[in-house]
Amino acid sequence: MPSSVLLPDAEVRELRAALPQLPYLNLGRRALCDLELLMQGAFAPLSGYMNQTQYQSVLESMHLPDGSLIPLPVCLDFSATLAEKLEPGGRLVLNDQEGFPLAVLEVEDLWQPDKRAEARAVFGTDDASVHAGVRRFFEETGAWYAGGTILGLHLPMHHDSMDLRRSPEEWRAVMQRQGWARVLGAHPHGALHRVDREILLRAARRADAGLLLLPAADQPFLVDADHFHKVRCHRAFYEHLPEGLAELGLLPLACRGAGPREALFQALTLRSCGCTHFLVEPDQGEPRPLNGGRAYAPGAVFDLLEKYAPESGVEPVPSDALRFHSRKKCFVPAQDTSLDEVETPPTSEELDILLEHGREIPSWFTFPEVLDEMRRAHPPRHEQGLCVFFTGLSGAGKSTLAKILYVRFMEQGTRPVTLLDGDIVRRNLSSELGFSREHRVLNVTRIGFVASEIVKNRGIAICAPIAPYEEARRANRELISQYGGYVEVHVSTSLATCEARDRKGLYAKAKAGLKKGVTGVDDPFEPPQHADLALDTAGLAPEDAARKILLLLEQKGYVR
Ligand code: ADP
Repeated sequence: MPSSVLLPDAEVRELRAALPQLPYLNLGRRALCDLELLMQGAFAPLSGYMNQTQYQSVLESMHLPDGSLIPLPVCLDFSATLAEKLEPGGRLVLNDQEGFPLAVLEVEDLWQPDKRAEARAVFGTDDASVHAGVRRFFEETGAWYAGGTILGLHLPMHHDSMDLRRSPEEWRAVMQRQGWARVLGAHPHGALHRVDREILLRAARRADAGLLLLPAADQPFLVDADHFHKVRCHRAFYEHLPEGLAELGLLPLACRGAGPREALFQALTLRSCGCTHFLVEPDQGEPRPLNGGRAYAPGAVFDLLEKYAPESGVEPVPSDALRFHSRKKCFVPAQDTSLDEVETPPTSEELDILLEHGREIPSWFTFPEVLDEMRRAHPPRHEQGLCVFFTGLSGAGKSTLAKILYVRFMEQGTRPVTLLDGDIVRRNLSSELGFSREHRVLNVTRIGFVASEIVKNRGIAICAPIAPYEEARRANRELISQYGGYVEVHVSTSLATCEARDRKGLYAKAKAGLKKGVTGVDDPFEPPQHADLALDTAGLAPEDAARKILLLLEQKGYVR
């Protein structure tokens, strides 16, 4: 098993001297995860990115042409612009997000993958509207792939959780030191609670194995509060496992949401860390749920892992379905007891709702230290950051309402407030931008970025651009709602009313042909599809309109 593709120091020095002449690619977070594990030999026998023949073979049969089992493609993707600078036999420098060179790819071949065919093979569907993994794959993956050998210069750098990060080779050594010939690996994504302790220990007993807990850390470079929160939860959970029976680490394995194939890929990666068994959770490899439904049939993951166990060398161990027995005060198998005696643990969505509303969480569900951490990371809504995002035609009433809300929030004094009014932003943040579609999207994206930072730090951001395009509004909603509340208010005042008001003389100029690209006149305003509130301000006093918004915020729990 190759342990690493890092070059010896002398060769690194020599290669570094040649780097400035070569094309380069700054890798995204997920590609950095792949590179780190590739360089550490976790995807053995792969020690570089798959070439087209290997890629096709993996899509069709989950095997490399040499017969090795690998269920997912491991390819380097990039844009058409970079593809123009590359050719077989050439070299490409792979940098981290700050431009620090980590490796050089010796390009063997490059090609444009058929992404739909890849999605069907890997995810089992190419319908992005029903599968979050497919959607992310289509949105984030470049149009070109390259395969070839990697010359490793430096492993991606981490500055956090150093005691939990080890290479597969180091993990194998730890397992050996422990004297564990049988190791049950688990690769959870979220925080673990009392029921998970029971599941893990039951599975370890069944497998007669030591326990290696390697939760996903696929955001290693972003200083993301959620990552640190999860690590703190894992550490707190680990303290409740019996001493000497379990080890805790982090595995930078990018999650794809490809269900059975992904779970098999995880099992193989854990095998490289010394695992002989793999705990299969009911949602192992599942993408984030879209439209409420599951993407894969129950049992599909376990069946695939069991089928390939003789080849993979990893025995799947199913996780028991357990319920809390309210009289016996312990967890029991779900089928063993009648419904009125058991409590079902809340799902992660239900848990989020309990936390967001500051409601009580039963003590049988989790450990006090984990709960404290969860409450700190997920405060009730009125303590979270909040973005009120106004959209509408010029003159619709966005700034007027934004200012009233600003004053109300300042009077309450509970959270810091920032007003990102359309004109203020255009003057300060986007002064060089015009009104083309591209520039309008960029302007709204910048506002979204600033608002997301404010919301992340639990402030209130009130945004009031025209934001005429749904695509940019959707991107902002997705970005910001990861960190706190997001409420979109469509100020839906008609064009006729806005023209009649014509506060800034904009519509008069448009009519006289002195101004082009005026939203609603000769540039489109795409009606919002996800507005939380639509307000037509014709015949409505500003204070009345603002009150409607505040009442909605109160109803949603964002203000008290
Ligand atoms: P925008 O920011 O959407 O371009 P402004 O807030 O600058 O719009 O201008 C809206 C105009 O409409 C202001 O002159 C405001 O006094 C008037 N107006 C009348 N009724 C309302 C209302 N209910 N809400 C907001 N503005 C109103």
